[in-house]
Amino acid sequence: PVRFAGVSKSFGSFVAVHPLVLDVKEGEFMSFLGPSGSGKTTTLMMLAGFEEPTDGRIYIGHQDITAVPPARRNVGMVFQSYALFPHMTVEQNIAFPLRMRGLSKAEQMREVGRVLEIVGLERFGRRFPGQLSGGQQQRVALARAIVFQPPVLLMDEPLSALDKYLRSHLQSEIRRIHRDLGITVVYVTHDQDEAMTMSDRICVMRDGRIAQVDAPEALYSRPQDEFVVGFLGESN
Ligand code: ATP
Repeated sequence: PVRFAGVSKSFGSFVAVHPLVLDVKEGEFMSFLGPSGSGKTTTLMMLAGFEEPTDGRIYIGHQDITAVPPARRNVGMVFQSYALFPHMTVEQNIAFPLRMRGLSKAEQMREVGRVLEIVGLERFGRRFPGQLSGGQQQRVALARAIVFQPPVLLMDEPLSALDKYLRSHLQSEIRRIHRDLGITVVYVTHDQDEAMTMSDRICVMRDGRIAQVDAPEALYSRPQDEFVVGFLGESN
């Protein structure tokens, strides 16, 4: 339900994202993969509403959201730095988007309980972020991003600050949540193994352009060009 219709972004004379045409299907897990500076984050920020496109339109479902402010786009977001509110408990952090939407206290607590279970943190609701591990904090951020049941979830390198073991553990959790909730995910990573194991399709970016969009197997078996071959061949 996400459509990039010729979306571009320039910073002065530098073109960070060339006119991008891409459809993300409903329920799809789409990753943006590419080297540093290839325009992945800029693209996601335009979808989130934190960067204004220089040109083009962005749609979620049938709605043109290009001019809609971030808080009204109805997308959940998880970024590399968890950005939890340190002075609020886990429950309060997760309830925050519901409070903003005017849900009653009872409704807030019911929904918070529901997502704490989804991310496996039922027993941690009363803690403060500083009393949690990095992986647990990232789960809280994930819970907060999905608590208002957005149709689209955006994630930018959500696991890159975690150690290898936790990373692979959370990768499968995110996959499971994606599957169970049927939510559309747009995911940014520079880690090709991560993109390969998690995604339905991968959009490989190079210098602000799409090098190839395909399912993981197709990227391996039918890479478009030398860049894709080279990039996928690199180990992290
Ligand atoms: P990384 O994996 O390192 O985060 P990326 O693929 O996400 O890289 P972007 O962050 O989207 O890349 O950046 C794309 C290009 O746009 C880079 O060359 C970057 O320097 C440039 N850029 C991003 N934001 C700005 C800005 N606010 N002003 C000027 N140039 C910018």
